Order: sequence, then structure tokens, then C-alpha cells
Amino acid sequence: MRNQSTEYESKKQNLRLLGMVLFVVGGGLLIIGVASIFSAMTAPTDWDNFSASSSQRMGNFIIGAILLSVGSACAGAGYKLYFVTHIRGLARYTAVETAPAAEIMTEAIGSGLSRGFVKEGDSPFSQGKEVIRIKCRNCGYLETEDADFCSKCGEKV
Ligand SMILES: [Zn+2]
Repeated sequence: MRNQSTEYESKKQNLRLLGMVLFVVGGGLLIIGVASIFSAMTAPTDWDNFSASSSQRMGNFIIGAILLSVGSACAGAGYKLYFVTHIRGLARYTAVETAPAAEIMTEAIGSGLSRGFVKEGDSPFSQGKEVIRIKCRNCGYLETEDADFCSKCGEKV
């Protein structure tokens, strides 16, 4: 029991460390990405060699954008990892990851149960309510009373 708990603690510690490293690395990439885009936008245009300088500018911009997205993904994942392990612990980490699926399942089971318990006849909404149907003059189809047009032939009822 004691071993398990220390193993759990060290795993948690490792995840926390990984989260911090990811966050720091991601943050670094973000800064480099911003700097790269900034330099691409502020670099003086070399008018004597316009196409080369603009392609370099484009390259810097693309690299910057990639670094930004990778950096923010890393930092986000790292932050989440650190935050989750820090606040809720390792056990909850997997719970958090599977929460949406579990929620959907619980909801589905819940609605299925309530549908099972409240039978059609017991429902206050369906009690004593009879749908009145009228016959279509054109085709004889039994249409609901509130309908303006026959759903079979489209004729006005
Ligand atoms: Zn009809």
C-alpha cells in the first residue's frame, strides 16, 4: 500500500515535471515564433533583390506561424498536464480525459431509464389526448386535424 502510494506520487511528479518542461518549451517556441513573424514583418525590403528577400520574409513568416502553433499546443498540453496533476492528482487525470464520453453515456442511460419508467400512457402529456384525424378529400388519406395540406398528395384539406 505504501509502495503503491509512493509509486503513484513519483508518477505524478514525473507528469508534473513533463508538464512543466512542455510548458516552458512551448513558451520558448511561442516567443521564437512571435519574433520570427515580427522580423518577417519588420525586415527592410531589399529592393535590389526583391524576390529573394520577399521569399525569405515568407519563409520566416511560415516558420513563425508553425512555431506559434506548435508552441501553443505544447504550452497548452504542458499547462493542462501540470495543472491537472497539480490540482487533481494522477487518478483524476484519466478521469478528466474520459469525462466527455462518460458524460454522454450517463446521459444516454439516464434518458433511456426515464423513458423506460415513464410509460406512454402514464405521461401527463399524453393522458386523454386523442389525435383527431380528418380525411383528405382528394386521396382519402387520414391527415391530422391541424394540418393544412395533405401530407400524401399535397392537396388542401
Ligand atoms: Zn390527399
